[in-house]
Amino acid sequence: MKVLILGGGQLARMLVLAAAPLGIRCQVVDPAAESCAAEVAPWHRIEWAALPEHRELLAWADVITYESEFVPTAVLSALATQHKVAPSAEVLQLSGDRWHEKQWLSRLGVPVAPHRCIDSLADLQAATAELGFPCFLKWRQQGYDGKGQWRLQAESDLAAVWQAAQGRPAILEAGIAFEREVSLIASRRAGGELVCYPLTENRHQEGILIHSRPLRDDPLQAAAEAHARRLMQAVNYVGTLAIEFFVADGQLMANEVAPRVHNSGHWTLEGAETSQFANHLRAICDWPLGSPQLLAPTLMLNLIGSWPAESLALAEQGAHLHLYGKAPRPGRKVGHLTLRASSEGELMSRWLRVQTILARRSAAPLP
Ligand code: ATP
Ligand code: MG
Repeated sequence: MKVLILGGGQLARMLVLAAAPLGIRCQVVDPAAESCAAEVAPWHRIEWAALPEHRELLAWADVITYESEFVPTAVLSALATQHKVAPSAEVLQLSGDRWHEKQWLSRLGVPVAPHRCIDSLADLQAATAELGFPCFLKWRQQGYDGKGQWRLQAESDLAAVWQAAQGRPAILEAGIAFEREVSLIASRRAGGELVCYPLTENRHQEGILIHSRPLRDDPLQAAAEAHARRLMQAVNYVGTLAIEFFVADGQLMANEVAPRVHNSGHWTLEGAETSQFANHLRAICDWPLGSPQLLAPTLMLNLIGSWPAESLALAEQGAHLHLYGKAPRPGRKVGHLTLRASSEGELMSRWLRVQTILARRSAAPLP
């Protein structure tokens, strides 16, 4: 099989690495000046709008998939008229706009935070009066890793935040006093075969995911799976998807949906019988899916801005280092570390030791 991946970041890189043992060949498209997937697959620097003209490249692929949610849906729809695209352009349209996404989730009975559509400072004033503080203003499109979103504490923040948001179409969300944040990763084939990974607990700092930990037998697992099943069936979803949830008053409330492999599923590379990357590829190739079973207590830590010396990080037994080949930069995800252990107690000890190593890291040069 031959897969064309739209988007050339670390998700593409890890898809390519998972594709090789399955005999799947990949090429990557990304208009950015650099691509960290280019080290592992041929990379084509093409503007999204020009992609439909690259007929030979498109014809090469048995299936086209995406890891970037910034591919314009119009481009994806155009490709889908002649090529197999998975997940579909419709899915990207629903999830790529926070307003559409909230409507999609609500329509299917998945609870979401109270929210309003914002197009002006007057809208923002009216919405904050209704939803109260704290609340979050988020661009409808193009936000990620906390970019394009602002936490509002008081009425005095409104003008400055609206200016920072450059007046772009946005939504306002009520601040949710959540007990914890979890995500569900699921993979589905066109015929309906579907697997769900164990719910994963996530911690964020300044809007960026810092660590994820799969939970064994979480009481909300069945409810999360029911939501995923309904969402995926409704759009005949093909591939891997992530739903991020807040847990408030012991109940799930969806925050957002990512129609792709997801950072909170990176632990599956070492912690699950089949990784989210392998199952994404298996789903889009319409091959049988692999078991999502958790193999052992596992924890994933993001390496943000810089990474520790390999010799230090790898000295810890059960540590698996993934560097993305990206230049160090504050706030940038440059890699992750997965820890696995035979017991929860051992995992915590390893985690504490790794925290010490990470505290000492310096921005090492690119390997
Ligand atoms: P990512 O790319 O990491 O998913 P993002 O930029 O898409 O991030 P969100 O997932 O919407 O942004 O928000 C990032 C984090 O900010 C959330 O995981 C949560 O910790 C906090 N947050 C966002 N919205 C709310 C809210 N309505 N109430 C409370 N906390 C929130
Ligand atoms: Mg998020």
